Amino acid sequence: MKILLPTSTAGSLPKPSWLAEPEKLWSPWKLQDDQLIEGKQDALLLALQEQQHAGIDIVSDGEQTRQHFVTTFIEHLNGVDFEKRETVRIRNRYDASVPTVVGAVSRQKPVFVEDAKFLRQQTNQPIKWALPGPMTMIDTLYDGHYKSREKLAWEFAKILNQEARELEAAGVDIIQFDEPAFNVFFDEVNDWGIATLEKAIEGLKCETAVHICYGYGIKANTDWKKTLGSEWRQYEEAFPKLQQSNIDLISLECHNSRVPMDLLELIRGKKVMVGAIDVATNTIETAEEVAGTLRAALQFVDADKLYPCTNCGMAPLSRQVASGKLNALSAGAELIRKELANGH
Ligand SMILES: [Zn+2]
Repeated sequence: MKILLPTSTAGSLPKPSWLAEPEKLWSPWKLQDDQLIEGKQDALLLALQEQQHAGIDIVSDGEQTRQHFVTTFIEHLNGVDFEKRETVRIRNRYDASVPTVVGAVSRQKPVFVEDAKFLRQQTNQPIKWALPGPMTMIDTLYDGHYKSREKLAWEFAKILNQEARELEAAGVDIIQFDEPAFNVFFDEVNDWGIATLEKAIEGLKCETAVHICYGYGIKANTDWKKTLGSEWRQYEEAFPKLQQSNIDLISLECHNSRVPMDLLELIRGKKVMVGAIDVATNTIETAEEVAGTLRAALQFVDADKLYPCTNCGMAPLSRQVASGKLNALSAGAELIRKELANGH
């Protein structure tokens, strides 16, 4: 990217009320069949326009094409029975009824490739597309077949690689893998989590990103955060290996979080999507607040590698709040661009 401090979002934006119930995570579609396809495309256009009006540099579909950031992808795979549900603990934090892996997993046809082509047709700006990461996928399922988290993660990595190669061919500039599970299962991350992620990006020429956050602003996550103490050092566990990995960009939660900014030193050399917007509050940041977080990050991230971003997705927020936060992100990044241009 030629522009300094290119802005983007971590992923989701609110959906219009005619597509799914607003201000609610993972709410079901209100349309079906052909109407749903058309509705998702219309919503994608609105999400794109919203980002463009706010001056966001790297745009996305705002995840208008999926109900859930993990299960919508899994729904398209063979080997997973969505009728057969088991209750499991997600990221050691909350119980959820999840589908069961009943046989070998495979991808019969592309999942998001047509949606990505549609987005590509609408803009010449760089586009980013999000997929779930292998470790977060296995943590959202009950495995009655492989009986091994690692084995299942490798199978998903192969499937993700097929999808990613087709997204790249569709013109996606940055493919992002969402791996909130990297903040929880530290031994597995280092044993095989990062290795499976590298399998998912194998052979790609486009840029690749991993998004690691403390989750949406839902109660289970905010309660968990209260138990983490005054310093959140979770990133410290995965960073050394990620710094050595082939992943180009690392997307992190920073604003209003207790992550010590100096941890970013551990990934020096990587491009960093610095979360400068808190998605767990309706309070809209001022440009100066955004700039403050970016300024702090600049101590540990070189300016040409700093990508101002949101902490996580904004799907549960109102459209008005999300829009305000996009504007704040742009305005905050612009303040820092001016400072850098003036040699501060
Ligand atoms: Zn997130």
